[in-house]
Amino acid sequence: IEHLVWLRNDLRCLDNPALHSASLEANALNRGIGVVVTVTPTQWSEHNESDAKTGLRAGLIKTLAKTLAALGIPLHIINAETFDALPDAMTAFCLDHGIKHLWFNRDLPIHEQQRDHSVCEQLHKHQIKTHTLSADLIVPQAVFSQQGTPFKVFTPFFKRWLTLLAQQDITPLPAPESQADPLPEPSLNFTWEKPFREDLWPADHDIAKQKLWLFCHHKERHYQESRDYPVQPATSTLSPYLALGALGPRQCLEAIIYTCNQEERRWQDSIWLKELAWRDFYRQLMEHFPFLSMSRPFKQETNALLWRNNEAEFTAWCEGKTGFPIIDAAMRQLNQTGWMHNRLRMVTASFFTKLLFADWRKGEAYFMSQLIDGEFAANNGGWQWSASTGCDAAPYFRVFNPTRQSQTYDKSGDFIKRFVPELATLDAKSIHNPSPEQRKQCGYPEPVIDYKPARLAAIAAFDELKGR
Ligand code: FAD
Repeated sequence: IEHLVWLRNDLRCLDNPALHSASLEANALNRGIGVVVTVTPTQWSEHNESDAKTGLRAGLIKTLAKTLAALGIPLHIINAETFDALPDAMTAFCLDHGIKHLWFNRDLPIHEQQRDHSVCEQLHKHQIKTHTLSADLIVPQAVFSQQGTPFKVFTPFFKRWLTLLAQQDITPLPAPESQADPLPEPSLNFTWEKPFREDLWPADHDIAKQKLWLFCHHKERHYQESRDYPVQPATSTLSPYLALGALGPRQCLEAIIYTCNQEERRWQDSIWLKELAWRDFYRQLMEHFPFLSMSRPFKQETNALLWRNNEAEFTAWCEGKTGFPIIDAAMRQLNQTGWMHNRLRMVTASFFTKLLFADWRKGEAYFMSQLIDGEFAANNGGWQWSASTGCDAAPYFRVFNPTRQSQTYDKSGDFIKRFVPELATLDAKSIHNPSPEQRKQCGYPEPVIDYKPARLAAIAAFDELKGR
């Protein structure tokens, strides 16, 4: 093989620009391609990647290896604990295997960009050519305003994004063609593998794809009305697959367009598509404002906030023992499954940053350490939105009232009952805020903070920033 495709968070055959282009070029020259995955567990833990995400990653690499083997394409693993070790490890591998071309899709976080730059630099010294293909976005080109600057607010970004989308070819790329007789099924054993909820997220590309099409067929048209109710299985739960690239966002676009055409709806109006545009938005922000990847707020003046950072409250929040049933149910959902419903991510992050007045970076890191779909751009964007420190953030005086959110979005209390079973005997009225006696009877804690004064204190702290 002369052409090597380096897969990272794009662990799939379908609609994979690097794999597609490498295979076309190699076929034209009657050459073969190989695929390489670099394994950097120390780096992943430094990036706070959760065990769940690492576990799913391991499973997806194995499935991918089988699919590639059936096409006669070998998958190689390079073990190198950290990104720093990759330039040498990749060069040694390429020289050993006679590789002349390395292909990969652009990765957007700054550390990953530096990694790719160092690897390319080293390979070029050995006359190995590198080819960088587009990033894992629906609209991969820069979405800029008429002034040629990146958008800082979602709505105008989305408008421009739709215009650009209408101008680009939106057909997903096919998988590479079979290049030789099938190879024997590889048996990969990873020492870094971690357990995760495989019952909820099987490490299987076909199942992910099926889940996508079933979602579009049955649920996409009801998404707008039902997506805010955590007890309903109304959202796609595809985020773990999108985060690791087992599913590409343009595959989602294809399913949306097909479904909307069938139902004679305009696909541009799909609210689910708009959520996928948020994914592109946060990824592009991270690329254009690299300081976001350095633990810095978008609104610099918010650096002056003096967060309370109470350790006992932090622990209670992490463990789902704050005494606010909806918050506790949400945090336990995160701890037990590696995933949390979007409405609850907003409610728990608002609770953390406004009512506990804890530094959003601590909450961001805890989410990352637990989420199976942990993804820097979306997580950072979501946290900065909630903390009102980000671009296009929630206004600082918007502080979710956890009890009211609970009464609105979990009216029956069924979601709470699922994850806080000690409250299962309470009726739909009292479950959102049990009385002191009920708490005692159920062995459930008192609230860690008093909502009203906590809310006023947060607003006052933000008020003080005015004029800075
Ligand atoms: P669906 O509602 O089916 O949406 C489809 C896809 O669109 C998602 O899978 C996701 O890829 C994308 N998407 C949806 N909403 C958003 C959004 N607001 N921002 C960016 N992409 C979005 N999403 C992550 O993928 N990884 C994270 O680490 C992450 N952290 C978050 C932290 C906070 C504080 C908040 C408020 C949101 C976060 N999100 C994150 C966004 C969102 O909550 C999840 O994408 C969504 O809940 C995943 O469930 P789903 O696949 O059923 O989503």
